[in-house]
Amino acid sequence: MRVTRYYLSLIDWEHYLTDPIFRMAIPSIRETDLSGELDTSGEHSNTKRQGLQHKYHQTALVITTQECAMYCRHCFRRRIVGKEAASETADPAEVARYVAEHPEINNVLLSGGDAFLMEDEEIERYLQLLCGIESLDFIRFGSRTPVTFPMRIYEDPELLDILGEYNLRKQLMVVTHFNHPHEISGEAKKAVRVLRERGIIVRNQAVLLKGINDDGEILGTLLRRLTAIGVLPYYIFQCRPVKGVKHQFQVPILEGYAIVEKAKTMQNGQGKAFRYVMSHPTGKIEFLGPASSEDFLMKYHQAKFDEDQGRIFRIHLSDDQCWIGAGEIPGR
Ligand code: SF4
Repeated sequence: MRVTRYYLSLIDWEHYLTDPIFRMAIPSIRETDLSGELDTSGEHSNTKRQGLQHKYHQTALVITTQECAMYCRHCFRRRIVGKEAASETADPAEVARYVAEHPEINNVLLSGGDAFLMEDEEIERYLQLLCGIESLDFIRFGSRTPVTFPMRIYEDPELLDILGEYNLRKQLMVVTHFNHPHEISGEAKKAVRVLRERGIIVRNQAVLLKGINDDGEILGTLLRRLTAIGVLPYYIFQCRPVKGVKHQFQVPILEGYAIVEKAKTMQNGQGKAFRYVMSHPTGKIEFLGPASSEDFLMKYHQAKFDEDQGRIFRIHLSDDQCWIGAGEIPGR
């Protein structure tokens, strides 16, 4: 486990057992339930070079580091993050070579771990190599530091200079991960503001988590406050059936759909332009809504296989169903 002093300071210690910040940061005995899997999105099978995944034609995803400022209890990449040996971390030159050889890749997602846990020099090295590749439209950083360690951003003028400089050559984006309104503190807002002042786009991916944000009012407040600080919500992910996570945090799909719809009623178009999806080995599958009292409609928003691109299908869901096995998807 690892928690920053800053993130600990957000905990309401009078009610810590039900506090969402506490629950996302502090291990629970419930993690010892090891039902589920470790690689729920088939990441291993998409790995083309060490630390480089190529699942969707347009995107290369890079494990730049296995370190994070905090190890979230709901992490889906726990098979990789927080390990002492950097056995899954990519080599920047190898990444640049692969991307240059695959002109269908139009963006790179520098992920991890947490991409802002790299040293500034390493971040600059990636940007130097990638900004020279003509076929890339933009570069994303996957980082939860705006939420868990915002001073990593606003107290490091060198990092901000590097980002500002390279943003003039290629559009940079930070994809971050706020899950609860309590995380949108003055410090977090400051980290977002200094990034946006340099022209960097900041967007949010949240995970729907039992006991954290599985309430339409709480989720709706999160989405509204994010939109208000210029962090447009981008995805809400169904929590994956990861060992040690599934048992504690998963919300059934039908219940999740109702929560998300309620949260949407509190937004204008800006705040509800996100998709509620499941990141599945075959692609990102959007939960569209009930087709009848028996069936639910889903759509491939992103697909690993061309024949699934945009495909809509019907499926019967039980009330307590939290995930869909590959064999359950019609036509797969
Ligand atoms: S910051 Fe992201 S990768 Fe790191 S532990 Fe949290 S969810 Fe996992």
